[in-house]
Amino acid sequence: MSFRASVLTLYPEMFPGPLGLSLAGRALEEGAWSLHTVQIRDFATDRHRSVDDTPAGGGAGMVMRADVLARAIDHAAPPDDPRPRLLMSPRGRPLDQARVRALAAGPGAVILCGRFEGVDQRLIETRALEEVSIGDYVLSGGEPAALVLLDAVVRLLPGVMGNALSGHEESFESGLLEHPHYTRPQLFEGRPIPEVLTSGNHARIAAWRRAEAEALTRRRRPDLWAAYRADRETDDTA
Ligand code: SAH
Repeated sequence: MSFRASVLTLYPEMFPGPLGLSLAGRALEEGAWSLHTVQIRDFATDRHRSVDDTPAGGGAGMVMRADVLARAIDHAAPPDDPRPRLLMSPRGRPLDQARVRALAAGPGAVILCGRFEGVDQRLIETRALEEVSIGDYVLSGGEPAALVLLDAVVRLLPGVMGNALSGHEESFESGLLEHPHYTRPQLFEGRPIPEVLTSGNHARIAAWRRAEAEALTRRRRPDLWAAYRADRETDDTA
């Protein structure tokens, strides 16, 4: 069974969007994953088909209604649906490659895209939604966040990446940022490709790449560097 994504949104026209092109688009055509969009507004019951209302307690903006969203979720994913239910949300746990890998290994995902100020808390609790953030900044809606999440997941699905190896040494897979890349021409604006990379000595090349990756991670991401060091220390003492 291939990865099944269901996306609940007020803007189904945003999908597949960029995921209809390139690697993800080809994988979608070939059935490596499937995408089902649900228009949340179809589950509104009043005359104006409203999906949001003013916040209890007052304040600016509007809040998405629990009853409308619950009907949409129950339609897209009945209680026995094994797929995780995600709510794109700046309050969520920041998405990382480990979570992406776990999602890609599973049956799919049901993804709710918020709009306005967000969704009624009771919906999050009763439908056991896992809040997922794509970073510490605020988008106007969950749709671009869902596209980011799906892009990261789809490229890991079996058969999607042309060169299976190119997934291995990438940023985060080893706990480090990736080493720099070079290709022809040999000389660009007076700068040659580092000599070691054209030496043909694979052991030296691997050592150089690892050293560059470590230096880069240490400089740019002290948080990743500390985790990487801690990991290695546990390995050494085990
Ligand atoms: N008032 C909210 C922000 C709402 S933004 C707050 O301060 O937390 C509207 C919607 O955009 C959210 O419901 C969520 O679905 C989506 N969104 C915004 N920023 C996001 C982020 N960093 N990651 C994931 N989803 C995000």
